[in-house]
Amino acid sequence: MSLIENIIRPDVRALAAYHVGASEGFVKLDAMENPYLLPEELRLELGRRLADVALNRYPIPSYAGLKEIIRDKMGVPAGFDVMLGNGSDELISLISVACARRDLAAPVKVMAPVPTFVMYQMFAQFAGMEFVGVPLQADFSLDLPAMLAAIAQHQPAIVYLAYPNNPTGNLFAADDIVAILRAVGESGIVVVDEAYQPFSPTSFMPRLPEFPNLVVMRTVSKLGLAGVRLGYMSASAALLEQFEKVRPPYNVNVLTEAAVEFTLENVSVLNSQAALLRGERERQAAALAALPGVEVFPSSANFLLLRVANAQRVFEKLIERKVLIRNVGKMHPLLTDCLRVNVSTPEENRQFLDAFKACIAE
Ligand SMILES: *Cc1c(COP(=O)(O)O)cnc(C)c1O
Repeated sequence: MSLIENIIRPDVRALAAYHVGASEGFVKLDAMENPYLLPEELRLELGRRLADVALNRYPIPSYAGLKEIIRDKMGVPAGFDVMLGNGSDELISLISVACARRDLAAPVKVMAPVPTFVMYQMFAQFAGMEFVGVPLQADFSLDLPAMLAAIAQHQPAIVYLAYPNNPTGNLFAADDIVAILRAVGESGIVVVDEAYQPFSPTSFMPRLPEFPNLVVMRTVSKLGLAGVRLGYMSASAALLEQFEKVRPPYNVNVLTEAAVEFTLENVSVLNSQAALLRGERERQAAALAALPGVEVFPSSANFLLLRVANAQRVFEKLIERKVLIRNVGKMHPLLTDCLRVNVSTPEENRQFLDAFKACIAE
């Protein structure tokens, strides 16, 4: 046996590494990034703020100032605190670690409708839990009877609901989410992942006081700060107290802390960018839907999900034209022939539209 076989878990060895391809020189519409930078004068001011950060010191692990501005600007209800993560990916990982009980006869279950964000399943597996995926309906709405039956059968400790969902872009019905929160009750938490909240008309954040088992998770990534890596989540004090115990004390670095504080002081700039993108989303959706043989699904996020014949070929032809999107067709049978494309600046949206038209006509 080799060193690797001796020490690395078989399920980890069997995994393919998370692959992010090279994208130099491409119109990059595959990762739900905000295409806009901060305006020049704010960038210069940010530079001065960062220059004053004491890089020789550890962060202060309470992160009091950063948490306060998040609570204030992001609509966290009175009396509720937030927990911070190195991206919401880390928060998903920490929740998984905290809930992976090993004192039970059977593995703990984690549930989500599928297709959805793949990290829920990955981190559940890493923590030794069993993932149960419940297929969405063909229009990507929740199959509530199937969810409720699966909850009764599997008693999941965690249910993840991406709201809006990735990669489908739609919002699930709020009444269905409430029914799931009630059905799970005291036997589990329901994590409503609002990564795309800046582009969505609705949120479960204000409803935290109604549901002791609700966790609302957000990130600043899709808002325009994907590179700084900061996620946050709110829930009852009792839940956060436990999750905090598995958080590495310095998981958010001082540069991230200062950059996010500064940006949230100027959050109206990011909110205007999000408003531009929401407008572009509607324009782009209408333009794509007018093309023959193209189905555009409703989106409350900063991307569009499309269905087109021979999606794999269209995807490859777009690459030849230096346009990078995501082919999600192999993720799940419900996504057959589906492509996911970011909404971007008017110019990049036009470039995509022109290239896409040419590719489907060839
Ligand atoms: C992008 C995304 C995240 C990850 O956000 P980070 O904070 O960048 O780690 C989480 N959930 C969903 C549904 C996403 O699409």
